[in-house]
Amino acid sequence: MLETKVVKVGGGCLRGKKRIARILDLVSERGRGQVFVVSALYGITDRLIEGMKRAVQEEADIPPLITRIRNQHTLVARHVISKGPSLRDYNRDLNRTLGELERLYYGLNFTGEITPRIRDVISSYGERFSAQLLAAAVRSRGIPCTYLLPEKIGIVTDGKYGDATARVRKTGQNLKARVIPLAKKGTILFIPGFYGVSEEGQITTFGRGGSDYSAAVVAAALKASALEIWKDVAGYLSADPGFVTGARLIPVLSYTEAAELSYFGAKILHPRTIEPLKNTSLDITIKNTLEPDAPGSRITPRGARSGQVVKSVAHDTDIGILKVHASGVGARPGILAQITGELSKRGINIKSVVTSQTCISLLLSREDLEAGYKVLRTLHPRPFQRLERAEDIALIGIVGDGLVRSKGVAAKCFSAVARAGVNIEMGSFGPSRAALYFIVRNRNLRNTLEAIHKTFFEGA
Ligand code: ASP
Ligand code: MG
Repeated sequence: MLETKVVKVGGGCLRGKKRIARILDLVSERGRGQVFVVSALYGITDRLIEGMKRAVQEEADIPPLITRIRNQHTLVARHVISKGPSLRDYNRDLNRTLGELERLYYGLNFTGEITPRIRDVISSYGERFSAQLLAAAVRSRGIPCTYLLPEKIGIVTDGKYGDATARVRKTGQNLKARVIPLAKKGTILFIPGFYGVSEEGQITTFGRGGSDYSAAVVAAALKASALEIWKDVAGYLSADPGFVTGARLIPVLSYTEAAELSYFGAKILHPRTIEPLKNTSLDITIKNTLEPDAPGSRITPRGARSGQVVKSVAHDTDIGILKVHASGVGARPGILAQITGELSKRGINIKSVVTSQTCISLLLSREDLEAGYKVLRTLHPRPFQRLERAEDIALIGIVGDGLVRSKGVAAKCFSAVARAGVNIEMGSFGPSRAALYFIVRNRNLRNTLEAIHKTFFEGA
């Protein structure tokens, strides 16, 4: 085991030159021999992806796009790197990387096609730029520091574009040779998050928000002693404070609880982050960079041993339902596969499925609802009798390990909802041992969250 920490620095804290300067102070003070896996500067990945569409259509849009990306980085660089040779070196490096990106965009324009392969290569540039910038800034303070690209050090993936999975064992062998010796010397290391490289040498990303996953891969591969996720929030809360005034920090939660909560609006960790850590006993700590000495939330393999079962009441308003009414759903082989298959063929993600004997309810992101509706309506022959959609709804989840097995939790929850005068439109209980989901009308969301929070957390 290496006595080193892996720290992930999120794009939310890499926003604006002042905030970035603070992060650099923290890294310089506390980061000797540690490995920092970084996101792109705030908004850059979106810009890179947006830029692809424009580059395909209009060659003349490429230079201004490159200029904007350059400006966003040099604006910060001038603030955090002292004038002189350090800044000149940085600018030279930046121009070289921008030159590569520019050629890729011209290539896109020439071929007229955004292939998954080129999409992943271009999307990965945000993290390259940020690692380059942060490493140059720390180095300009006279601290040994460098950045290491995933394709150079061998963060190996399965090669699936846009949604790759890392090969942790292989990556571990590579990092042992190429990262550990540097960390042992006390050098501060920056590694771009979000992507790795397949055995065939293809750049492959881990999906949007995937730098958390990258950090977990690096931590598992290095057998690190700790994994910290630096963010600009305190940690996991018992509810969204925008809806529930009494919301409080959850000090300790389990991998499973964190994974359940990740699917909701509270985007603290990418849902796949715990995957590479499954066989380790590593704790993940969420740290607020605005309050670096506060304990934050700690995520451990088994969670809190004592205390109450329910940890959080979470919600998601980005949902719509497609209700597929068909008689004897449970007795007709293949109907569910056919419907979900058609949707996934068109790239529509299904967030969840709830079925009864006469109805299959598919939970989709709101932006996919119309497209999903059209796909199913045009099926021939029709495998259903009626198709409905609804979107003024919200999904609520009560999350806590062991909740499904504890007596009375569901009853307590539903009676609180009933006392608040709210009707439950649909519910799902049991598929996960750590969560209970149900749906209410949007207008009842706040009431419902408050009622449940009061019952479980405020002793009402
Ligand atoms: N920059 C990537 C994204 O915005 C990855 C990340 O930030 O985690 O999706
Ligand atoms: Mg990002």
